[in-house]
Amino acid sequence: MLDKRNFYINGKWVAPTVPRDLEVIDPSTEEPCAVISLGDQADTDAAVRAARTAFATWSLTSKSERRGLLTALLAEYKRRSGEMAEAISMEMGAPIDMSIAQQAPTGDETIELFIQTLDAFEFESAPWPQSPDERILKEPIGVCGLITPWNWPISQVALKVIPALAAGCTMVLKPSEIAPLSSLLFAEMLDAVGCPPGVFNLVNGDGPGVGSQLSSHPDVDMISFTGSTRAGRLISIAAADSIKRVTLELGGKGANIVFADADEAAVKRGVRLMMNNTGQSCNAPSRMLVERSYYDQAVEIAADTANKTEVGHSDQHGRHIGPLSSAAQFEKVQGLIETGIKEGARLVAGGLGRPEGLNRGFFCRPTIFADVNNDMTIAREEIFGPVLVMIPFEDEADAIRIANDTVYGLTNYLQTQNGERANRVGRALRSGMVRINGTFSKVPSPFGGYKQSGTGREGGPWGMDEFLEVKHATGWAHWHD
Ligand code: NAD
Repeated sequence: MLDKRNFYINGKWVAPTVPRDLEVIDPSTEEPCAVISLGDQADTDAAVRAARTAFATWSLTSKSERRGLLTALLAEYKRRSGEMAEAISMEMGAPIDMSIAQQAPTGDETIELFIQTLDAFEFESAPWPQSPDERILKEPIGVCGLITPWNWPISQVALKVIPALAAGCTMVLKPSEIAPLSSLLFAEMLDAVGCPPGVFNLVNGDGPGVGSQLSSHPDVDMISFTGSTRAGRLISIAAADSIKRVTLELGGKGANIVFADADEAAVKRGVRLMMNNTGQSCNAPSRMLVERSYYDQAVEIAADTANKTEVGHSDQHGRHIGPLSSAAQFEKVQGLIETGIKEGARLVAGGLGRPEGLNRGFFCRPTIFADVNNDMTIAREEIFGPVLVMIPFEDEADAIRIANDTVYGLTNYLQTQNGERANRVGRALRSGMVRINGTFSKVPSPFGGYKQSGTGREGGPWGMDEFLEVKHATGWAHWHD
């Protein structure tokens, strides 16, 4: 079992002030694979102090110095990306081939995209030609507390750490206590490339401990959080006394609107995307809305695709999906499947219990519910498991109404070969992202949600702005520039 009890504070690996062990459980085996420590107030304070001291110098570094650190980190990350994939598979159960192809590459992709963003980013500008002695200065906000979940562990960490570094901020990262191994490896990489002491610190802990200590800390200027809407609410309350900036990337209940003229692969693609990462993605297309005339056929295709989705261990090669990430998540998903059955939804694939032949590990059956109405619990709550609900709709207006009838607004999907309709519906959907006909972004782009899916955006210049203050200056001696 790996001993990962130390924290990374002020450029050194240090023991916790009070020993408090937590075992990291491999969800494929239910066996402990590592031991970490849960931090105490004194550890949080030491990390915040180190970040505050380092801010005095890191905030003054040039764009090219910070770019240099990111470039070195990119090379180091690529060198160790195999280890990153293994760490992620072990801590949260993603099958190794999926970790290699999808999870681990989110780290180097994020670094690359932020290098591009940094190159194009203007920290000082004179936006009005008619008033050349005015300046807009974008300055790092200060010490940032970064709190992340377990489902796309290194993606979520990189989307915070990289723009914070690029902006000139210093930080304390508290990764998920369920999946801390990828973050500890990331800290090793930052250490190896000479990130100055105190700029990046890592303290492990749980939500009520280090999480709320950071959120309420008087010397933390900003909290960037990804996780559940429940925790986002608590963090906002804890941060209110010190009026710190809080950015939140929260849950989702994305609609995938399938019109009868959708391309042939649309339903299959929607089910596969839902099952990817065992359904544990905040932007999962978890409600498939299908035009009535195509509905029965779509249900058949969906059930068949789910039945063909294999489930297996994270260390096995192949295209299967892995277990859910924890015992708590397994119980939650089982409970919601049970609720779906009780509320009268029609189970057409999967259901309660583990898949055949898997008696240990937090494995769940790829599940499809048909004839769901949007008022049912399974249509309203984020399940965060391989469970798709299918709802018929009558016409375009009905589809938009159902899609928007949710407290969430992260990602909606739509499938139609009518471009005019696609754009019209795309505009009407109340969400931070709309994905049409299976397309995704390959350039720096904003990730984030409307409504209870959060505040703020990660990625690209939008993600940089989150870590910056805006200063407006008049009487600027522009001839010296
Ligand atoms: P969670 O909210 O329980 O935990 C996330 C992180 O917050 C962990 O590090 C945890 O220790 C910490 N935390 C928990 N309670 C806290 C508190 N009171 N104060 C401070 N920190 C606290 O969520 P989870 O179960 O780990 O992750 C799943 C959730 O995350 C899902 O709801 C999912 O949709 C959401 N999510 C959203 C996005 C997004 O970008 N919108 C991305 C991934 C996951």
